Amino acid sequence: MSMFCYQCEQSAAPGGCTVQGVCGKTAPVANLQDELTAALVGLARALDVKGQTKEGVDYLMRGLFMCVTNVNFSEDRVQEFIDEVNAYHAKIDSAAQNFDWEQLWKGEEDIVSLRSTLLLGMRGMAAYAWHAARLGFHDPEVDAWFIKGMVEFAKDHSAEEWLNLLMEFGQINLKCMAILDKANTETYGTPVPTTVPLTVEPGPFIVVTGHDLHDLNQLLEQTDGKGVNIYTHGEMLPCHAYPELKKHPQLKGNFGTAWQNQQKEFVDVPGAFLFTTNCIMPPKENYRANIFTTDMVGFDGCAHVEEKADGTKDFSAVIERAIELGGYKEAQEFTGINGGHEVTTGFGHGTVLGIADKVIDAVKAGAIKHFFLVGGCDGAKVG
Ligand code: SF4
Repeated sequence: MSMFCYQCEQSAAPGGCTVQGVCGKTAPVANLQDELTAALVGLARALDVKGQTKEGVDYLMRGLFMCVTNVNFSEDRVQEFIDEVNAYHAKIDSAAQNFDWEQLWKGEEDIVSLRSTLLLGMRGMAAYAWHAARLGFHDPEVDAWFIKGMVEFAKDHSAEEWLNLLMEFGQINLKCMAILDKANTETYGTPVPTTVPLTVEPGPFIVVTGHDLHDLNQLLEQTDGKGVNIYTHGEMLPCHAYPELKKHPQLKGNFGTAWQNQQKEFVDVPGAFLFTTNCIMPPKENYRANIFTTDMVGFDGCAHVEEKADGTKDFSAVIERAIELGGYKEAQEFTGINGGHEVTTGFGHGTVLGIADKVIDAVKAGAIKHFFLVGGCDGAKVG
């Protein structure tokens, strides 16, 4: 079976992944994700005609998010989600047609590139928007744009029209980042500079990875007083700086280096791992039984924690696995990707602007000579 995917920097070059993803995504999963994308177009068309619904926009966000790199490798879960989307679509307007998924990546090269830029950007925005939505925060313009974006994605446009659409989308994406920032800071407080140890203490522990602060918070509440320590991994590191998260004493430190090293770093570790968003790599047999996924993440053979009808999650299976594994007998000192036994985080815009006068004075006095802008997250390739 063939596939086509060129959405990330791991992509086989030149020409994308066509047999199996470098990330581990199989051809059947890649094709199902294309089918899901086509189904989301159909749902967006239906919502466009019949009017926006919260449930419909949630499906668009979750479906787009499910197709982000290193999120879901499970044929069963993607198929189940397609069925759910199609059923909801049929309920509101069965006349609106799904896109032909086999045409997704076909057409004149420049136009396909422009169209893909919109789709891949929307997948990323969907992850942000869904995290904010889980905390009860929405921006009406962002929600509405999920419908507009998917409807426009499936139309023919000139290159100039595509560029205009992409510029408009860029503005919406900034609004989405703003609502996520508001969701996180209003729920968990403005981050404060925090030093985070890289040492894993003795005893049972859980490593949490991804970006979902709501999941981390629930896990912290459920481990209060249980003698199970929590460590962040990868992009979960900034959580140590949020006052409402750091108040839990069992949030001890950060485990591991970058996401792409997990297949080496998780081997023989006597702890449980919870994946809340992207960055899962096909787990090695050695530690597969310790992996738990939740929300849009999925990997066949790994336990999945579903959200309950009341919007909460029960992480007791993860906690029990950590207790069963028991953790290390003695403290283990790890080093960061650049060495050292601790890292610092918590320099968000609220913190930096709070000391703007001091920074300006330091620049004027010559104490600060360089600013470095670090964009994006940690790619697997150097450069
Ligand atoms: S997401 Fe996976 S299949 Fe797609 S380009 Fe990246 S490595 Fe290839």
